[in-house]
Amino acid sequence: MKTIIEPFKIKSVEPINFTTREQRVRILQEAFYNPFLIHADNVLIDLLTDSGTSAMSAKQWSGMMDGDESYAGSRSYFRFEQTIRSLTGFNHIIPTHQGRAAEKILFSVVGGQGKFIPNNTHFDTTRANVEFSGAVAVDLPTPEGKQPALRADFKGNMDLDALRKFIEQAGPANIPLCMMTVTNNSGGGQPVSLSNIRATKQLLQEYGIPLFLDACRFAENAFFIKKREPGYAQKSVEEIAREMFSYADGCTMSAKKDALVNMGGFLAMNNDEWARQARNLLIVTEGFTTYGGLAGRDLEAIAQGLTEILDEHYLTYRIRSVEYLGEKLTNAGVPIVQPPGGHAIYLDAKAFAPHIPQHEYPGQAIVCALYEKGGIRCVEIGSVMFGTYGPDGKLISPMMELVRLAIPRRVYTQSHIDYVAEVVQEVYAERERLRGFRIVEEAPMLRHFTAKFAPL
Ligand SMILES: *Cc1c(COP(=O)(O)O)cnc(C)c1O
Repeated sequence: MKTIIEPFKIKSVEPINFTTREQRVRILQEAFYNPFLIHADNVLIDLLTDSGTSAMSAKQWSGMMDGDESYAGSRSYFRFEQTIRSLTGFNHIIPTHQGRAAEKILFSVVGGQGKFIPNNTHFDTTRANVEFSGAVAVDLPTPEGKQPALRADFKGNMDLDALRKFIEQAGPANIPLCMMTVTNNSGGGQPVSLSNIRATKQLLQEYGIPLFLDACRFAENAFFIKKREPGYAQKSVEEIAREMFSYADGCTMSAKKDALVNMGGFLAMNNDEWARQARNLLIVTEGFTTYGGLAGRDLEAIAQGLTEILDEHYLTYRIRSVEYLGEKLTNAGVPIVQPPGGHAIYLDAKAFAPHIPQHEYPGQAIVCALYEKGGIRCVEIGSVMFGTYGPDGKLISPMMELVRLAIPRRVYTQSHIDYVAEVVQEVYAERERLRGFRIVEEAPMLRHFTAKFAPL
């Protein structure tokens, strides 16, 4: 088989800044060892997130010029609405400035005290918005998803037995909807199978509970289904995506992922009454119903991006380039979540730095070392991001300590990825030298964005 190549030519380039190791030692110190506080000009390869970091296509840029900036009834809105409706089948298409705005509105409508929202795994902003409404966010991932080294095809799945038990225990009347995150971001970017989505829907139907997809990476998920799930090899990714949406009653989406844009999102659903309430909230916080916090040109770029994302040459390259980094690291003995997910490689920090206890944030130690050694920026997904405090003030750690190397879409080439693999291997070779951190300042919610650290 021949090398799988980037299915695009580069029309416009952006220089990246080189720094020395001495400079980076100082930069880290000044940023209180939090990568979110580093000036992006001081980052060589930015793997902090795949969100809003995509390179847009020539067609998207030309669509931006063509965007209709009318306050109400913009032509670009109708293209946006038409594209999403034909893909998802949902009646109500509500634009928002990003995914979390869709979540905020959705959970303002359906959440609140005494309510429970199950999900295969909540993304951090989803959990925050559920909790902010007063409701309780419950993660019910398949047991396979909790074992980083285990290779399985659909580690993003929902645990159906746990879901049934949970519904019986919490009471269906207290569960306004169930979410399903595709792919399962916090669970390692792992896909969810169509049979799991279908079975989740069937189970929920018994109790009259609607299913909403957190659809940020629906196309990457659909591609994995095509490659891995029996019976889907001959179907197009678009057909698979349509089938995924056909089992849902609505979705939230950050267009900053699989719509290949730098800003945008939407909330979509079939429930007329919820949609009416959502649009009222939209007008208060985001804008009129045909732009919802976005410019007409953004709506145009999203509509175009949603058609490009389903290109199977693109998805083949996309999934392969992530897998390629995973293969290089695995061959070098670096512990990662197996198999590689769709948008990122997740280092298993517990296995990488077993000498650092969870309350000393092993993931953060690796994040800082990758920046110091090679100017690579990435993020901890472990006790920093999801840690909470018990009544005794002791840290309660999540199950996994991960470090996410997220790959922006259409941005970096194979040699950038080769460089990343080299830096990770160097840090791994010197792993015994890694030291933990303590938090010296933190916010009550989503603390990883602003927390300040000191090395131990
Ligand atoms: C990014 C993301 C969100 C939130 O979207 P934003 O556009 O960042 O607000 C929600 N869920 C998942 C799974 C995500 O990856």
